[in-house]
Amino acid sequence: MTIKKIPKERYFLNILGYEYEVIYTDDANKLMINNQLCFGLVDYVNQQIFISNQQHPDMMQETLLHEILHAIDHLMNAGKDSLTEEDIEKMATGLAPMIDLSLIVKKEG
Ligand SMILES: [Zn+2]
Repeated sequence: MTIKKIPKERYFLNILGYEYEVIYTDDANKLMINNQLCFGLVDYVNQQIFISNQQHPDMMQETLLHEILHAIDHLMNAGKDSLTEEDIEKMATGLAPMIDLSLIVKKEG
C-alpha cells in the first residue's frame, strides 16, 4: 500500500519585513483565544496567521485582512496593540472589497 502524498500549497505574506505564513484550517485548537473560537488568529512568536476555512471565501478574505491589520498594529507598536477590536473591524470591512489579497499572498507548492 502506498500513501498518497497530497500536495499542500503554502501561503506567505511579508508584513513590515517579517514573513508570516497564512494557514487555512478547521483545527479549533489553532483558533482559540481565551477559550473563544475565532475566525482568525495571529501567532506573533511563530509568525503564522490562522484563518478558519469554515466560513465563506469572502469572509476568509476579510478575516485575513483583519489579522493583517492586527499584525501591522502590533508590530508598529513594539509588540503592543494600540487599535481597538472595533477599529480593526471597521477598517477590514471597509478595505476588504477593494483589495485582492491574492496579489500580496505568495504561494509555495
Ligand atoms: Zn480582531
